[in-house]
Amino acid sequence: NTVYEVNGLTKIYDNQKKANDNISLAIRQGEVVGVLGPNGAGKSTLIKQMVGHVKPTEGEIRLFGADVIKRSDLIPQYVGYYDQRPAALDALTGYEAIYCTGRLRGMSRAAAKGAADRLIELLNLGEVRKREIRKMSGGQQRMVGFATVLIGELPVLILDEPTNELDPERRRQLWDTLAEKNRQEGTTILLVTHNVLEAEQVVDKVAVIDHGQLLAYDSVGKLKQQV
Ligand code: ADP
Ligand code: ADP
Repeated sequence: NTVYEVNGLTKIYDNQKKANDNISLAIRQGEVVGVLGPNGAGKSTLIKQMVGHVKPTEGEIRLFGADVIKRSDLIPQYVGYYDQRPAALDALTGYEAIYCTGRLRGMSRAAAKGAADRLIELLNLGEVRKREIRKMSGGQQRMVGFATVLIGELPVLILDEPTNELDPERRRQLWDTLAEKNRQEGTTILLVTHNVLEAEQVVDKVAVIDHGQLLAYDSVGKLKQQV
């Protein structure tokens, strides 16, 4: 029941910057993994390779056993991914962005409409239902982005700094929603975060990255014994 298997992953950008250096890790079904490390450590690079947005220089990435470096088109079928800037959705309203993402994931019109309505209610997004994404605050854009990740009940969620720009109330809502998703549907979750204390209540395992290298990959409890 391994979801992701990463083996010897190395990324050297065109400017010769080695952003990931021989990273190997496995994520099992139902695990919630937090990626921690200083700015520039290579966290986003790792995630972007795992979702097929950046091509690895070396190494292997398997998703449910499939080689997704060769077949990155398979990734969106299983993985909900959201990063800072939903550029392609900028001109859509909050509702349209969530609904259209559901449609792109194969939902019927009625199912996508129902799910978008439920997510807007669950995440208190009524205020931005009819507002264009480009006219929203950073925090509102993040919450709509979060809703687009959730629609369609994909088995894997990957989130890069999901709590950036959110106030404490919104952050709690996001953590609660992720915890519930994991508990009820067994959703596997990988997230980058700086909010270690908040993440601790949701995260099972932590991957610590520095200078492109994986320094530790263990349960929160085990890591605490070491520091
Ligand atoms: P983090 O997410 O941990 O802040 P990143 O993965 O964004 O780290 O970046 C790791 C290193 O790779 C940094 O030194 C960054 O400047 C560099 N980097 C990231 N993207 C690129 C790119 N497209 N081209 C060149 N260097 C990059
Ligand atoms: P993050 O770490 O969250 O990716 P950054 O601000 O570091 O955010 O990077 C924003 C974008 O710029 C990313 O797409 C990244 O790949 C790219 N980038 C980062 N550093 C460099 C760099 N040194 N050269 C070229 N592109 C870079």
